[in-house]
Amino acid sequence: MSNKTVFVPSHQDAYPTSELAGSKEREAQSIPQLHPIIAKQAPNQRIPVQLVDEPSQHKLHIRTQKGPLQRLRTSINAFMIALFALVPFIQYNGRQAILFDFAEQQFFIFGTTLWPQDFTLLAWVFITAAFILFFVTVFWGRVWCGYLCPQTSWSFIFIWFETQIEGNKNKRHALDKAPWTLKKLSKRFLKHLCWALLAITTGCAFVSYFVPARELYLSVWSLNASIWVTFWVAFFAACTYLNAGWMREIMCLHCCPYARFQSVMFDANTKTVTYDSARGELRGPRKRKQDTDLGDCVDCNLCVDVCPTGIDIRHGLQYECISCGACIDACNQTMDKFGYAPGLIRYTSENARQSQAKSIWDSGRFAAYGCAIIIMLIIMSIDILNREDIQLNVLRDRQELYRDSDIQGHYENTYLLKIRNKTQQATRYRVTIESPSYLYLPRKAEISIAAGEQIHYPITVLGNKSKIEQRQISIRFLVTDLNNPGQRVSQQSNFFSATTMR
Ligand code: SF4
Ligand code: SF4
Repeated sequence: MSNKTVFVPSHQDAYPTSELAGSKEREAQSIPQLHPIIAKQAPNQRIPVQLVDEPSQHKLHIRTQKGPLQRLRTSINAFMIALFALVPFIQYNGRQAILFDFAEQQFFIFGTTLWPQDFTLLAWVFITAAFILFFVTVFWGRVWCGYLCPQTSWSFIFIWFETQIEGNKNKRHALDKAPWTLKKLSKRFLKHLCWALLAITTGCAFVSYFVPARELYLSVWSLNASIWVTFWVAFFAACTYLNAGWMREIMCLHCCPYARFQSVMFDANTKTVTYDSARGELRGPRKRKQDTDLGDCVDCNLCVDVCPTGIDIRHGLQYECISCGACIDACNQTMDKFGYAPGLIRYTSENARQSQAKSIWDSGRFAAYGCAIIIMLIIMSIDILNREDIQLNVLRDRQELYRDSDIQGHYENTYLLKIRNKTQQATRYRVTIESPSYLYLPRKAEISIAAGEQIHYPITVLGNKSKIEQRQISIRFLVTDLNNPGQRVSQQSNFFSATTMR
């Protein structure tokens, strides 16, 4: 079995140097499976380093755990999964409320349509979401991983099916080793069938954000979907099946970048899943109600058996820990059986363990992160409020800068206006110009544009020769929504003539 090195900063050390420096007997018995190495540095610079066994490289079968934290996790997961699957079925103004239409390059979100030009807004949404995740990590550790991450949610659902069909942890281990009989074959077939159906439904749910949901489900389950829809549903189904069915903790341990860098955000006030070694050691088995000098850990190993990443939290904080709280529920159950106080394993911070817990309201980091998030939300709101529902692009006629108009005594310039109606309703617009009074449009310019359409609108501006004093005059085109005059966009251009400076 291979070892890994765990660099445990002193504020998160489950076996602080002071404890290691206790009696030799305690030192030897409390952490018999560890190999503590203290770097050869000056005593005040020592960083405790421990070598602990890597989690099992074999297939991990976890014990199902019940308890308040697992109920909370299951409820949150159920809510998030229901939201993910059902949101595409919400209708708004006769169309799917949230839909990424790649073919039309539009993103519908309730009454608003976002275009590729609006993707700065989406970028802000993602940046703000990432920042909120970091903010939560600083104070509450990896609660995202344990309670909200889709990888964790789907893995637990797949494990639930596995448990229902193949039995508990021991039965699953036995089934792995059993020869291939009809019974084993039928159990495996049923499990993989359930996994496959769940994976295909997940693939449909994902693709339904890009293809209208109702038609999608009908076409996929009736095998009438187009080749591309079939491909993407199959792709996401395969990813789900492999991630949640086969890879599970391997994704967290070896593929997820967040798992690797989250610990740099931790400090002494971060709440992590912590084994209280001062209370638990010396660990050891005993009978209920037996008087003993041992610590509270009865070495039942339940905290390891229920861990979805296969680690032993008694070794201290490890990057594999996804903060799911299963070991907390398991340990509290054991503490209850032996009549000990709960909380041998609990969510706590190093400062709290040393009775130096600070309120987050006294934390400068909390204030700084909080302010940064508020500023981001304000910027995002301003961006949303200033979004234009009309897109205008003015192109000058490059062939001829100007020409003599058929109207006596006038020059004329021609332009091509590209106007897009970014709303979800057909809209009527008026085109006007802001310019000196001797430049004007020969007639009223009003146009109707269908929802989401862009039109190319050629337009001519006339200039009175007798009044023009410059060769180049700045003008501004305005496009106004006739039903909502507040919605207006403009773009600057130039009017040219043969006139030289007078
Ligand atoms: S150590 Fe505990 S909280 Fe961490 S992943 Fe394992 S069971 Fe979940
Ligand atoms: S569940 Fe609690 S008592 Fe049992 S081994 Fe883990 S820490 Fe010790």
